[in-house]
Amino acid sequence: MLVHEGIAEYCRTFKLPGVLEHYAALAEEAAKENLAYTEYLYRLFEHEERRRLERGRETLLRMAGLPVIKTIDTFDFASSSVDKALIKEILTLRFIDETKNILLLGPSGVGKTHLAIAIAYAATRQRIKTRFISAADLLLQLESAKRADRLAYYLKRVIGTVRLLVIDEFDYLKLNEEQANLFFQIINKKYETGLIIITSNLSFIHWKEVLNDNEALTAAILDRLIHHSHLLNIQGESYRLKQKREAGVLDFPTLQH
Ligand code: ADP
Ligand code: MG
Repeated sequence: MLVHEGIAEYCRTFKLPGVLEHYAALAEEAAKENLAYTEYLYRLFEHEERRRLERGRETLLRMAGLPVIKTIDTFDFASSSVDKALIKEILTLRFIDETKNILLLGPSGVGKTHLAIAIAYAATRQRIKTRFISAADLLLQLESAKRADRLAYYLKRVIGTVRLLVIDEFDYLKLNEEQANLFFQIINKKYETGLIIITSNLSFIHWKEVLNDNEALTAAILDRLIHHSHLLNIQGESYRLKQKREAGVLDFPTLQH
């Protein structure tokens, strides 16, 4: 017993929670399997490593700020027009090394946010520093940073340190001149240092209306986003509405966009 207490104490002092969790069970296993002492120690270290990796992933997931956790396992490809092969390719996360942005366009309810979350989730599992934020919240943060004279800090420390920035719902917002400029700064920052996933229910021709009717700025933003990217244009009607209609809950026959 004393030995166990001593081990537990050392584990706490040296911060080895994985060892603490596994050493006893593993010792029994090792005795049964007649393992060499070195093999036992090796397996114990493996547990500690696994535990640390998992901790790191949990921290990254928390920092990513996902509104809910959704994975690709709950995405029903059969009722979506999205290119399944391309989503699978994206989920290998090769796009991160290739620094390709991802643009998810399409009407409301077709799963753009779901897919963006699933990709962000997969990135945190691979220990990629990720931040998920709605376009509206991003603008609020930018404006308050600017007001506090901390815009440079915000761009460098908050946006610049994230490898994958997910901007959700670049939908029908009406940005004023300052907001449009701030938005450009974000896109520009990530163009230089990382990559962006953006979801929008607007086709590109309408982006100018959001961006204060500034043609040059819109062109500069689209150029940076599209230049090296995967573009997913998802067609179809809202997944939930379709489900309800198919279940006979809605009495109108179709709701096409
Ligand atoms: P969008 O962002 O395109 O407006 P969401 O991703 O928010 O749409 O989808 C709306 C709801 O429908 C969410 O709960 C999402 O999980 C679900 N959903 C959409 N498409 C699918 C799909 N193909 N399979 C499973 N769930 C889906
Ligand atoms: Mg959405």
